[in-house]
Amino acid sequence: MIQFKRSADLRLWLDGKQDKGEKIGFVPTMGALHEGHIRVIETCRSHVDRTVCSIFVNPVQFNDPKDFENYPVSLEKDIEMLVNAGTDVLFLPSVPEIYPGGDKGLETYDLGDLETMLEGRYRPGHFQGVCQVMSRLLTIVKPDHLFMGQKDYQQCLVILRLIGILQMPVHFHTVPTVREADGLAQSSRNRRLNPDQRKNAVAISQTLRFIGEKLHPGELETIRKQALDKLDKAHFKTDYIEIAQASDLRPILTWNGRDKAIALIAAFQGAVRLIDNMMLN
Ligand code: AMP
Repeated sequence: MIQFKRSADLRLWLDGKQDKGEKIGFVPTMGALHEGHIRVIETCRSHVDRTVCSIFVNPVQFNDPKDFENYPVSLEKDIEMLVNAGTDVLFLPSVPEIYPGGDKGLETYDLGDLETMLEGRYRPGHFQGVCQVMSRLLTIVKPDHLFMGQKDYQQCLVILRLIGILQMPVHFHTVPTVREADGLAQSSRNRRLNPDQRKNAVAISQTLRFIGEKLHPGELETIRKQALDKLDKAHFKTDYIEIAQASDLRPILTWNGRDKAIALIAAFQGAVRLIDNMMLN
């Protein structure tokens, strides 16, 4: 695996490959890698000639400075996992490499309602930060294919919109969520859970499955209340539980029995904020 810290060096290498007609796939990450990330890398590898992974903990997408400071870092282990997964290139840029002009004067993007609903509502500015880093990374890597995880479903919709705004010829792929044996979605944040919190955390995926089992045409508020109650019982402090249109995340209050629906949860177990989602039909 070749490592690059500077975008100019990465670009030179990629030009050599793209000139020969090789297809480039890109997997952006913030490091602290786990099996979920590796599944995204493997999916990427099965579609393209060269797989580029980036590790960059993007300061501008953290609305909570504590969350940024506490974000886990495990670079040596990450590199080992990426090598074992057959990654061709690791891009490890510094903050000035990504934001040469600092955090002033960064572009803002018209994300419509996606910006202020669900994650956007509880993490103001988060998706602008995600778009700012992704716009820069996509401009540097110019991938033919981009791979991201369904675990961050709203982020996938935001990035699809960004690709439209930037008019980039990149194919977007969503990779299904990888879970622990008990159903907890794999996440870098899971390693901050203490043993009790880790046990409680399973309630998120159980609640999502419960919503799927109870889903029926008609009014859904009762299901939502029962779901909230399940999270309360597992000592979660819930930011949101939503049943929404999978296409654009508009809330579904009364389901017509046909529209593709998704349930999404964000909740705190102690100081650790976890998110997850499941397609319901
Ligand atoms: P992150 O490092 O959290 O920014 O995640 C990097 C990429 O991995 C994003 O596209 C995530 O959606 C994806 N990802 C994170 N956790 C999982 C998981 N459990 N299963 C599949 N993809 C994941």
